[in-house]
Amino acid sequence: MTGEPIDHIVRAALADQLQVEHHTLYQVSTSTALVEGVYRGAVTVAHLLEHGDFGLGTFDGLDGEMVICDGEALQVRADGSVRVAARDDSSPFALVTRFAAEHAIEVAQCASLEQLLAAIDPLRGSQNVFYAVRVDGAFEQVHTRAMCRTEEGVPLVEAAAHQPEFHLRGVAGTMVGFWAPPYTRALEVPGYHLHFVTYRRDAGGHVLDCAGRRLRVQLQEVRDLRVALPANAEFLQADLTHDPGAALARAEAKPSDHD
Ligand code: ZN
Repeated sequence: MTGEPIDHIVRAALADQLQVEHHTLYQVSTSTALVEGVYRGAVTVAHLLEHGDFGLGTFDGLDGEMVICDGEALQVRADGSVRVAARDDSSPFALVTRFAAEHAIEVAQCASLEQLLAAIDPLRGSQNVFYAVRVDGAFEQVHTRAMCRTEEGVPLVEAAAHQPEFHLRGVAGTMVGFWAPPYTRALEVPGYHLHFVTYRRDAGGHVLDCAGRRLRVQLQEVRDLRVALPANAEFLQADLTHDPGAALARAEAKPSDHD
């Protein structure tokens, strides 16, 4: 009727249906729910990969750290091992996007995560939108942790208080993550949140610290957020009225920053 080629119509309808237009950040659940101990898997890995090729999260029962890199979903477990996630593995919390870098720089040297992030900061044009952040290179060290399987309902701060940490030395790999505006803290981990996996897919985790030279940083602005709220009883019955800010700061940063 419109004279538009059928393939255009099909592509637009599919993009609309799947919401896979790039620059959309697809999120499962909320940081508040995670802080309150809602760890029951809500969407499958296959579903996440329909919404992007780049992201992070955790698995059902808080069983390790999720890294989605170049369309591959990986699970870094508490024993330090890395496996390719099964398509029917599920996640209680994840963020994923289709990564298309808009900015790229090389960071000549950084002695800490703080220094790396300070080098990335000027690339962000606003404090009020999201950014997808990718860092590639040979790191002198990456300090990570990986959550171990935790009972439903145990608060995240408690779960995070005794997690295995890894001091990886001389590792080449990719950091995958996001910067979220402070005002989103009921939904997101505000500020930077990065996960790491080696190119050899033999180590990784939630990034606590790092050092490296000649690191390639890529950045993408994201202004379209889609949140999928879990339909399970654990989420529906949870008390999500508390401000998760302080708990998130404790659970997500380096323990020594707080103790
Ligand atoms: Zn994390």
